Amino acid sequence: EAKAAGKNTFCFFESEMAQRLRDRHRLEYDLRCAVERNELVLNYQPIVDSRTRQTLGFEALVRWEHPLHGRVQPDHFIPLAEQTGAICGIGAWVLREACRNAASWGDHLTVAVNVSVDQFRHGTIMTDVEDALASSGLAADRLELEITESLFIDDPEAVVTVLHRLRSLGVRIALDDFGTGYSSLSYLRKFPFDKLKIDRSFVNAIKDDRIAHGILETILALGRVLDLSVTAEGVEDAEQIDILTRMTCNQFQGYYFSRPMEAADLGAYLLRDFCATAETSRASCVALA
Ligand code: C2E
Ligand code: MG
Ligand code: MG
Ligand code: MG
Repeated sequence: EAKAAGKNTFCFFESEMAQRLRDRHRLEYDLRCAVERNELVLNYQPIVDSRTRQTLGFEALVRWEHPLHGRVQPDHFIPLAEQTGAICGIGAWVLREACRNAASWGDHLTVAVNVSVDQFRHGTIMTDVEDALASSGLAADRLELEITESLFIDDPEAVVTVLHRLRSLGVRIALDDFGTGYSSLSYLRKFPFDKLKIDRSFVNAIKDDRIAHGILETILALGRVLDLSVTAEGVEDAEQIDILTRMTCNQFQGYYFSRPMEAADLGAYLLRDFCATAETSRASCVALA
């Protein structure tokens, strides 16, 4: 009896595993077709100046509208895309689409695009960026690439060459999720960054974690020494903003200001933003008079 039950259990697991493997293969296959099938969309989240509260630009964040599973978040499919090589096609599409959208915004607004380490490994990043800029007509200095520290694991020398070439186009480079990766402070001296983005886990802990607070102060001091602007990610409430403002953080991004939005909603957002900041400047003019 026990033997029979054991056998059944084994069959159950076997079929469950087989099922999972089939699901995964199916998802991998779907992901390879997602670009051609027009299933990817970009959402945009504002990045705000800490002093004026004006919107400086937007970060492009990809979503996958799967015909069966609905909206899939990037944390679920980007790792899969990286394992299967689909990331290069997706990355090229994201660059093109983000630049195309940004070209229709005001000239002062920038667009930040996340790039995967594989786009560097496969050597496609340079031509992808050049194509996206050429086809959209976007000025290079309005494009910011967000890279992560994982980029420095395999061949830092090769990476630094490409980063310099990208920068000579006029494109800016931000180091994303700073503080969570394979940080070696020596990279900050050797690599041509324009900006550090502090990971939201530190911002999250700022109120009740002395160590997180100290790390944030240190990162901001580092930013001043290296002449890099610093963006705090994942800002969700006014108290975090108060603390970060006192630490002279340059830029904010987070749900407190706005969740990521559809491209079509940016016009209305910018109008509200413009009226709000116009209101503030009028108020301070009145106060001065
Ligand atoms: P990231 O580049 O660090 O992007 C910030 C993430 O934090 C976004 O998640 C954003 O929606 C979320 N976020 C922003 N403000 C808040 C906040 O106040 N509270 C909380 N809880 N979350 C906040 P999302 O859109 O799910 O993206 C996750 C990650 O996926 C990104 O992290 C990025 O690493 C990756 N990703 C997104 N789009 C792309 C892409 O086009 N290409 C590549 N290679 N990776 C991408
Ligand atoms: Mg990012
Ligand atoms: Mg980040
Ligand atoms: Mg991230």
